[in-house]
Amino acid sequence: MLGKNPLGCEAREGAAAGRAVESKMLRGRRMFLDRGWTPPTPYAGIWDRAGVLKVSAENGRMTDAAFYGKLADLHSHTRLCGHAEGEPRDLARRAKDLGLGVLGISEHCPMPSGFDRLRLAEERLPDYLAMVEDARRAFPTLPIRLGIEAEYCRGEAESVRRFLEKADWDHVIGSVHYLGKWNFDDPKEIPAWKALSDLRATWQAYFDLWKEAARTRLYDTLGHPDLVKKFGFVPEGSCEAMFEDALRAVAEAGCCIEINTAGLRKPVKEIYPSAAFLKIARRMEIPITFGSDAHAPSEVGANFREAVALARACGYTESARFEKRKRTMWPLPEKE
Ligand code: ZN
Ligand code: FE
Ligand code: FE
Ligand code: ZN
Repeated sequence: MLGKNPLGCEAREGAAAGRAVESKMLRGRRMFLDRGWTPPTPYAGIWDRAGVLKVSAENGRMTDAAFYGKLADLHSHTRLCGHAEGEPRDLARRAKDLGLGVLGISEHCPMPSGFDRLRLAEERLPDYLAMVEDARRAFPTLPIRLGIEAEYCRGEAESVRRFLEKADWDHVIGSVHYLGKWNFDDPKEIPAWKALSDLRATWQAYFDLWKEAARTRLYDTLGHPDLVKKFGFVPEGSCEAMFEDALRAVAEAGCCIEINTAGLRKPVKEIYPSAAFLKIARRMEIPITFGSDAHAPSEVGANFREAVALARACGYTESARFEKRKRTMWPLPEKE
């Protein structure tokens, strides 16, 4: 046995020791290490000045607390949209447990009739605002941003604009889920996808809308950039010219794009957007945001290690976050 250490936990040997120390830290009992104390081998990780274990000796990986602390998850949903679980305070609890730097809640905006109803109802906006306030009170040390995932739909920009005036948002995510009135990302539409004769034309129609979305300048970041790939219906051959054309409009508008990990949970099993897309965005110096698109508290921050690895592989070194729609840039977690 190794005896007591300054963290007050009984020292154990091997991997279990590393885990015990790490979980103690994650529970928020962050203490300063006594400078004079040299950790016995099982504790030999890399610690930061606040006594947070940064690199676990157990597996040589950056710990969650150090990794997530540098990141903002700006995209998450609540039960108010009718197809997600949990309330802002449940999402916040999960964010707090992970050690996430910033949590952004971004409910689906209301839509006029003729579109899906699985969204925040306009009359429930006060409830949404109150729930976000309640989460802020419950977790005062976690920065919680009031966001909204606002639709872009041809002919509906005015209704979105009017809705956006009703609250003081931290950030607005612009998303395209409809081609005309076709809710192409609904799993019920898979048979319709199978029946399509020209996939490339469908993709082009999607990116044309996406370009228009950027040009409205209503949004701070554009969500799940290549959502059109969700069910794995991908045209043959290169789409790079299509991506370039769409991204040029985004660059001109000074908008960000989102790296959204929900794609990993969908049939395509790939982050939105693809590396090919993201490399072009990087070349055009378009900033990125991160979003889990959590529809349940357990999905907050999901697959962010993969998301950061993708961003780095495409040349990114920082990501954006917003407060009252003012953008700031933050360095990505250090390389592992
Ligand atoms: Zn949703
Ligand atoms: Fe969406
Ligand atoms: Fe979403
Ligand atoms: Zn979404």
